[in-house]
Amino acid sequence: MGRVIVIGCGGVATVAINKCCQHPEVFEDLCIASRTLSKCDALKEKLQKNTKTNITTRQIDANNLTELIHFFDEYKPDLVMNLGMPYQNLIIMDACLICKCHYLDTAAYEPEDTDEPNWRKRYEERIKEKNFTAYFDYSYQWEYKKKFEEAGLIALLGCGFDPGVTQAYVAYAKKHEFDRIDTLDILDCNGGDHGYPFATNFNPEINLREVSSEADYYENGKWIRVPAMSIKRQYDFDGVGMKDMYLLHHEEIESISTIYPEIKRIRFYMTFGQSYITHMNCFQNVGLLSTTPIMYEGREITPIQFLKALLPDPASLGPRTKGKTNIGCIFTGVKDGKEKKYYIYNVCDHEEAYKETGLQAISYTTGVPAMCGAMMILNKIWTKPGANTLEEYDPDPFIEALDKYGLPKRESYNPTMVE
Ligand code: NDP
Repeated sequence: MGRVIVIGCGGVATVAINKCCQHPEVFEDLCIASRTLSKCDALKEKLQKNTKTNITTRQIDANNLTELIHFFDEYKPDLVMNLGMPYQNLIIMDACLICKCHYLDTAAYEPEDTDEPNWRKRYEERIKEKNFTAYFDYSYQWEYKKKFEEAGLIALLGCGFDPGVTQAYVAYAKKHEFDRIDTLDILDCNGGDHGYPFATNFNPEINLREVSSEADYYENGKWIRVPAMSIKRQYDFDGVGMKDMYLLHHEEIESISTIYPEIKRIRFYMTFGQSYITHMNCFQNVGLLSTTPIMYEGREITPIQFLKALLPDPASLGPRTKGKTNIGCIFTGVKDGKEKKYYIYNVCDHEEAYKETGLQAISYTTGVPAMCGAMMILNKIWTKPGANTLEEYDPDPFIEALDKYGLPKRESYNPTMVE
């Protein structure tokens, strides 16, 4: 039996809350807490009549530590699921430590203001030391490892699909399929069509910051930097068909390369259509992706936040999106002295995800793992304390839960390799 607070009420949170409410024996009490109370109330109204989970709602500004502490002290959650923005990860982790509850999120910390001098200084140093330029990295949250360990609490970092399930797939491959993994390609394909010339399928600000950044991959202990969208491949995805995909930096490369130093090369690819790329380049060229505030008619605005306000809300794409996603990991390595290949992935249908939760498959493939991760903590199946990514836990019960609750794995022992 668990008491849970979910922070955020966007696409990912809505799916996770839907799924939690299907398991009232685990999620007995759940408080939906977000910036806009009306969204929390509307979701409660929709779900409460069909679930035994006792749902409450609350307006919260997750930037306000005092407000968070007061709220957590009053509600006394076992677990706080941070499914809002990654900007607030550290502040919510602080509140969890003070109020002695577990923590879970789906994206690595990054700052809202990338011009903040202290953060910028550390960022420039990290580029020199590690040679990757993404705004997000795990170092900030890994600094909480000891504090969570000492408190006997879990902070489960990045428990969506990627990051999240992809790292559980690595742990699963290492446990069952390989004595040694040599290479890993993570492929994230969205074959969905929402009919808009341009829309992002999760939070536009985070999505565009990620995709427009310089890309890189990890090889022989080093990060190799390449210009954004400069490495393109084609791949024929099960359930989707042939798609163009581009090499990107992604947060799980950092944790996988740290936890499995044996892996010689790790790359991440994501599919994009030409229309997405043309629009993104145009926004970039005219400065709309900038995170630096400007003055406009006497008011300070941040260009990328203004752009977000113009774009379709990802949570509204559900009824329009058709097609499937296919996300997974292709490995090469050695088992019992023999070289082998292995591909583990999931195919998720946008329309089926919508039928079940009212959201499209990108929110679904993130919200379901978040619920399954919460279940691992509340049912005390995962007990190792600390601020940990998913590679650090037994993948079997988590992957079994995904199989059962909406994201079943598929496997291939003879996959087409990415050149
Ligand atoms: P949305 O923009 O749909 O939702 C964000 C929610 O957070 C909104 O309800 C918003 O409130 C709320 N929020 C924002 N700021 C605050 C604040 N200061 N205090 C309280 N609530 C706040 O995002 P998504 O659901 O698409 O994404 C959620 C997270 O999941 C993101 O961090 C994203 O990066 C991550 N993600 C992870 C994936 C993975 O596979 N690991 C894949 C996709 C997403 P309001 O309604 O007022 O705007």
